[in-house]
Amino acid sequence: MCEDLVVRLNDREYTNWLKAGHCLYILKDALHPFIEEHMRAFHRALLRDEPSLRAQCPRSCRSGDIKLSRACTPCLQWKSEILNHHRQPDSTLNWDNCTPSAWRTQHWELAKAYMPRGQARVHAAHQCDPSALLNLINYCDRFTFVHSSYVRELIKCRNELMHSANLHVSDEWIKNFKGALNRFVQLFSQVPNMTLVEQELTKMLTVDLSICATDAVDSTDMKVEDDSANYNIRPELISQWEADLLQERLRELRHMADNETMDTDQLMMLDGFLQENKDLSQRFSAELQAISALGMDKGRVDKQSSDLGQK
Ligand SMILES: [Zn+2]
Repeated sequence: MCEDLVVRLNDREYTNWLKAGHCLYILKDALHPFIEEHMRAFHRALLRDEPSLRAQCPRSCRSGDIKLSRACTPCLQWKSEILNHHRQPDSTLNWDNCTPSAWRTQHWELAKAYMPRGQARVHAAHQCDPSALLNLINYCDRFTFVHSSYVRELIKCRNELMHSANLHVSDEWIKNFKGALNRFVQLFSQVPNMTLVEQELTKMLTVDLSICATDAVDSTDMKVEDDSANYNIRPELISQWEADLLQERLRELRHMADNETMDTDQLMMLDGFLQENKDLSQRFSAELQAISALGMDKGRVDKQSSDLGQK
């Protein structure tokens, strides 16, 4: 196993960050078929109850037409229905996620109106990141059967985790996260296999990844003894968890740069982390540089970030 990874897995607060982040992916993988089914039914019900939504968009309206209210009548009708079913219709909706002319035929285009920005290229539930799915559940009133304060609690945890500048969280934070995660999972007890998912989440939060690192030095396949079962974690799998989380973080930074709200400190911290970890740096530094350049093009990144990568 790569030496940098061994060092990271012996850093308790980094593994806290990694395990908590991966828990959100476990949750997302368990929930997406259920959420997708709900959105399909929601889309069907809208078409059934409001005949004007069945009219085809005559001129391929785009998200900009929706924002400026210059779209065709059927697309504006869809916009109005989306707002009618939004739990906070006065908040900013990310119309750039959507292709309005597809609202009539594609339930996931409808779902994307309730998500954070950056979903334009996503076309199915399984391609979403955890934040997208959590926000959909929070904002779309199709999900009024769940206690929204528990959903918001988990969204808050997810944001703290992803915005942790040094990619570390404390044991105390993990304790609170575990409570929020359990309360959220209880909301979806009707989802098939949720009991198994709950066990998997508990295992993930208790597994000692530093043992994985030690055991794996001589072996590419490692086993961690658990009270109930062997829990197999291969180093490639851990690297994949890291990649998922770093890609999510980079996507957020890119959207910030696109919207001229670049957080230079966050960019510097992530750059520092990548410089220290050559294995990750090889994979992600080019993307970070591109984001930094984009931020500078937009004129909002100060002199500090021009030093990125020049250490
Ligand atoms: Zn239209």
